Amino acid sequence: MSDWIFPPAPTPSLPIAGSTARFPVRRILCVGQNYAAHAREMGAERAEPFFFSKPADALVTDGADPTYPTETADLHHEVELVCAVGPDGIVGWAVGCDLTRRDLQAAAKKAGRPWDAAKGFDMSAPCGALTLGAGPGTGATITLSIDGDRRQSGRLGDMVWSPEEVLAKARALWDVRPGDLIFTGTPEGVGPVLPGQRVEATIDGLTPLGFTMRAR
Ligand code: MN
Repeated sequence: MSDWIFPPAPTPSLPIAGSTARFPVRRILCVGQNYAAHAREMGAERAEPFFFSKPADALVTDGADPTYPTETADLHHEVELVCAVGPDGIVGWAVGCDLTRRDLQAAAKKAGRPWDAAKGFDMSAPCGALTLGAGPGTGATITLSIDGDRRQSGRLGDMVWSPEEVLAKARALWDVRPGDLIFTGTPEGVGPVLPGQRVEATIDGLTPLGFTMRAR
């Protein structure tokens, strides 16, 4: 038993559909611009996958509502397929939302500075329950609606790099371990989400993700 100078933070985790067990999260890697149409809308060409990260405690789970972050006037939604890594590769799948301070990201890009404040802020990673086993197929639809209006819609088969390819690239860069999550990128249609708005995100075959953006 270590003699901590204060109690260690709890381990972030995801619920598992149909189980009382939970998936302990070690860290979160995210892929940028992994759908061709979204890459185009962000002004990028097809290229090797690139990664950024969010801290594990940025997760918002179990139907909780995130709070609108400080220091932004342009918070964006990005619905994404989330892959959960176990001892032998991807063991589970979930619907996630990569919340982004788009104004800070644009400023960081322009200045050639890191994206941490744009991507890795508190409560920036709402995520639904994990479904264990085989993942949704390439024909599965991925969607996001705000207050009932469809904003994003795509097919998982539109990914530039498949989940397995993304994982292989991540393994080339990091010692990916059980408990790691990978957010695999978003289809086109990203845009603002405002305080009070209801976000509903779906991927065929997975537990939907829903949250209301709480005002500060
Ligand atoms: Mn994203």
